[in-house]
Amino acid sequence: MTEIKRVLIAGGGIAGMALAIVLERAGIAAEIVEIDPDWRVYGAGITITGPTLRALDRLGLLDAVVDEGYCYDATRICDIDGTVIMASRVSGRPMGPRIFNSGGILRPVLHRILSAATRASGASVRLGVGIAAIEQADAAVSIRFTDGTAGTFDLVVGADGIQSRLRAMLFPDAPALAFTGQGCWRAVVPRPAAVDCAHVYVGGPVKAGITPVSRDEMYLFLLQHVPDNPRMPEEQWPKLLAEQLRSFGGALGAIRDGLGASARINYRPLEKLLLPQPWHRGRAVLIGDAAHATTPHLASGAGLAVEDALVLAELLAADVALDQALRRFTARRYERCRMVVENSVRLGELEMSRAPAQQQAELQRASMLALTEPI
Ligand SMILES: Cc1cc2nc3c(=O)[nH]c(=O)nc-3n(C[C@H](O)[C@H](O)[C@H](O)COP(=O)(O)OP(=O)(O)OC[C@H]3O[C@@H](n4cnc5c(N)ncnc54)[C@H](O)[C@@H]3O)c2cc1C
Repeated sequence: MTEIKRVLIAGGGIAGMALAIVLERAGIAAEIVEIDPDWRVYGAGITITGPTLRALDRLGLLDAVVDEGYCYDATRICDIDGTVIMASRVSGRPMGPRIFNSGGILRPVLHRILSAATRASGASVRLGVGIAAIEQADAAVSIRFTDGTAGTFDLVVGADGIQSRLRAMLFPDAPALAFTGQGCWRAVVPRPAAVDCAHVYVGGPVKAGITPVSRDEMYLFLLQHVPDNPRMPEEQWPKLLAEQLRSFGGALGAIRDGLGASARINYRPLEKLLLPQPWHRGRAVLIGDAAHATTPHLASGAGLAVEDALVLAELLAADVALDQALRRFTARRYERCRMVVENSVRLGELEMSRAPAQQQAELQRASMLALTEPI
């Protein structure tokens, strides 16, 4: 085993919590510091692909996610009137008989499942605390926290998300976050019984779709082309989203007609970043969005975050020196994460240029197939 006994994780999001769970399972003490004193996440839905469900299964959380989210095997492709053109069904279940081909879940529900498992793992969690300074030495890394306390660890992991402060501290020359030209609208609405799997609407001015997230709810997503990245004032979100949905019929049209001031809407301009290799400096390493932030076109950011945690914990528990374990970590993860970031951005470009649906579908299919490979 590497000499790692005590790991500090900055960030209690999907990557950080997954890592704490698997480290504790491997007998390595994990301590999370999370900057948000209330440990909240915003109330949007996310799509969970088959490979993401496979990773959640390895965390021991598949059953909870299937129970509290909504999983399915097929996706219906609709025209803008909502007429179903095609049911795209992957043959069988490539990830294994228990693992659905896709699903959806509310972010706060996934957070509740992960945070309960994190607490149960024995990991320590400190809220409202971040890292103020890092000092690396050969045998340990010393940390000063934002609350004035200090500690010494064998390894520090930056799992602090797309705006990672640890990335800025460790990799001052990292590429800046790049805006991709699209903004993502999401809205959580009641689910009619007929929406029993994802529906993607093609041929319209923008890409949009719906995904069930529970027995009673589903979420709508819509990718708007916003080259100037305008400010979208929150009080106008229902009106602005309804405008984007104006040409759609079917379930999307019904959602548009029901959007009111109380609608649970979320808007985010899309940004991306891929940190060049390696993702560690001395005794500090980045995982999740801190190292590779992608747009949602392949619905894989959460899955990559969990996979990073699984692979890093496996390598830290192996009988190799820390530097070698961390080198192997980036080597195992880089190509898969690069593929997701670059193909997701490319899919957005194809949407913005209104490239033929066939070209978009082929890139989507090839990328999803690549993601079924073992990690
Ligand atoms: C619009 C949109 C839609 C998406 N849809 C999907 C989808 O459908 N499917 C999917 O798989 N992925 C989706 N994603 C991506 C997914 O949300 C991310 O990839 C995933 O959350 C990454 O997990 P993470 O743990 O790396 O980061 P996060 O989940 O962002 O967690 C980072 C954590 O670190 C904390 N933190 C921040 N700074 C500090 C600090 N200085 N010190 C301590 N803690 C700190 C934060 O409070 C947070 O708790 C989407 C993303 C966007 C923007």
